[in-house]
Amino acid sequence: MSPIDTPGSDPLAPPVAASGELLLRVTGLTKSFGATPVLKGVDFEVRRGEVVCLIGPSGSGKTTVLRTLNGLETPDGGTIEFADAAPVDFARPPTKAQRIALRDRSAMVFQQHNLFPHLTVLQNVIEGPVRAHRVPKAAAIARAEELLERVGLTEKRDAFPFELSGGQQQRVGIVRALALQPDLLLFDEPTSALDPELVGEVLVVLKELADDGWTMVIVTHELAFAREVADEVLFFDDGVILERGAPQDLLVNPQHERTRRFLDRILRPFEG
Ligand code: ADP
Ligand code: MG
Repeated sequence: MSPIDTPGSDPLAPPVAASGELLLRVTGLTKSFGATPVLKGVDFEVRRGEVVCLIGPSGSGKTTVLRTLNGLETPDGGTIEFADAAPVDFARPPTKAQRIALRDRSAMVFQQHNLFPHLTVLQNVIEGPVRAHRVPKAAAIARAEELLERVGLTEKRDAFPFELSGGQQQRVGIVRALALQPDLLLFDEPTSALDPELVGEVLVVLKELADDGWTMVIVTHELAFAREVADEVLFFDDGVILERGAPQDLLVNPQHERTRRFLDRILRPFEG
């Protein structure tokens, strides 16, 4: 049942409640660009209601993992399995139906908001539900208005993206993803392009989504945020997950020298 049918429910609530059941299983994911392998066998699982943070050096494959989940890249091998669906085994090229089914399980929020510049805030938010999901326009507008209110953007309903601050644009990007009612939210460095004073307003929304039980995979360098919100942190290095664990373990007492060096570079960038 979708919140569209349940007036009065929290508009930020996910379509399926957090249950701890397995939502996503990724096994042996591989991907090369030309002759360059960028994913060399990536395995992880995400349970409903969990927040998994991906950290690691630039070029280690974090974005590519999100893009394969959202159907923007096709892996060369491995499997992606969502709850209540057959695993997609990339040993064979996926069918169009498999690609669409996979894509529709998740919604992605990019580093740059990627809003349509010629559409208003409201039009940006209802575009996906109306066009892709065939939600009746009135219902899509009603839900969009609820979501915008919830993230404090009611007054910006009819504004164009260029009239918004970076933080407001990114909050619209988040609302646009929520409006699709996906099982899984994917965030690729959602605060990296923001001025420092705007980072907090976006992290607050992410924290609320986590508290409301959304399942999220977040690429981020905001380690204090990851420590507070993540259930699990995956440290990517050169196309593999080198180390994984609870944030209070991995971020505080990493087992691998490379993890330690990465965390030191972020926390103490001037100490070489
Ligand atoms: P991260 O997000 O961890 O910085 P990416 O997943 O973006 O890493 O990239 C991993 C590697 O793949 C990098 O070396 C990057 O240059 C390369 N890469 C990513 N996308 C493409 C592409 N479309 N074509 C060629 N190389 C790519
Ligand atoms: Mg990236």
